[in-house]
Amino acid sequence: MAQPRKYSKSVGDIIKIKSDFFEKNEDMLKLSAHQADALLMQPKRTKCKICHGVIGKAAGQEELYHSQRMSYYECPVCGHVNSEYEDNEDFASRVYIADDYLANYSEDDRKKYETRRDTIYIPKAQFLIDSLAKDGVKKKNIKVLDDGAGSGYFVSALRQLGIEQVDGIEISEPQVQFANTMNGDDILTQVDAPDIASIIETADVNVVTFIGVLEHITNLDDVLEALKKNKKVKYIYFSVPMFSMSCIFEASHQNCYNRHAGGTHTHLFTESSLKYMADSIGFTEYATWKFGSDMMDLYRMICVCLDQNENPRLREVFGKKFLPMIDEMQEIVDRHEEASEIHMIIKRKS
Ligand SMILES: [Zn+2]
Repeated sequence: MAQPRKYSKSVGDIIKIKSDFFEKNEDMLKLSAHQADALLMQPKRTKCKICHGVIGKAAGQEELYHSQRMSYYECPVCGHVNSEYEDNEDFASRVYIADDYLANYSEDDRKKYETRRDTIYIPKAQFLIDSLAKDGVKKKNIKVLDDGAGSGYFVSALRQLGIEQVDGIEISEPQVQFANTMNGDDILTQVDAPDIASIIETADVNVVTFIGVLEHITNLDDVLEALKKNKKVKYIYFSVPMFSMSCIFEASHQNCYNRHAGGTHTHLFTESSLKYMADSIGFTEYATWKFGSDMMDLYRMICVCLDQNENPRLREVFGKKFLPMIDEMQEIVDRHEEASEIHMIIKRKS
């Protein structure tokens, strides 16, 4: 049976980790504009990313909204929100630029790594372990493949919590090296994008995880098909961006960095499109944790606007008044199912 949904999470130290978004608004906006340029060069999307229903102008549809030069259409079949251009291989090759990773890492880098892992990823890992425990799956029987493992934070967090059978795969070689150095162990393996679907299809694991990954996969159909075929996989754990309050805040603050819709996010999930996706591969919602960054986005946008209007003292006053309320305000958004992100575990129907 599905677990009751869990809501909200304290902002806590995350505000410090994400301070770039506050201090580097112009740079982040430029990066996002560059990514939008790359998407605008691609063919128009005529089919929904999730259900393949006809969408957009081809279906005689009006846009749901537009933001940062991009129109978004709501799929009439599954409710998914798709940008008007396709996120194909050419787009991916233009926007996923390898970050600069230093050859030598200091002790300070390791501390930063561990802080980020403990603040952001341990709670996500704990949620998976707790949810599976409620389904009678013991820690020692959990076998995980983490796809799009990035710098290995989630794999590292699961290991910290005592999951021994966990591997991560990642396309970027520098990120794999960084993750393995930070962990002092080969926790990740570098793989090439065309091989990922077959790796998933043949993996000897009962859990596959995608933390902030599904929305970036160009051949999502192939990956979903592989999950459907690999009957050993009983649970899929993912976090994805949702059509949410953050989208509306972004659309109404065009001089503020759009963290959520745009950039490398070319489509947004909804409750109904998630259900459609799970059904299409023979899975159903099992456990969900909803906590968004909508109020943090709103707070950041107002701060950026106050800076742009040369109102530094009011920004300070605003912070003092607003931040003590922010967790409670976000909790309301989360409970109304309007949060910017969702963490969901879906389970194979027997
Ligand atoms: Zn659809």
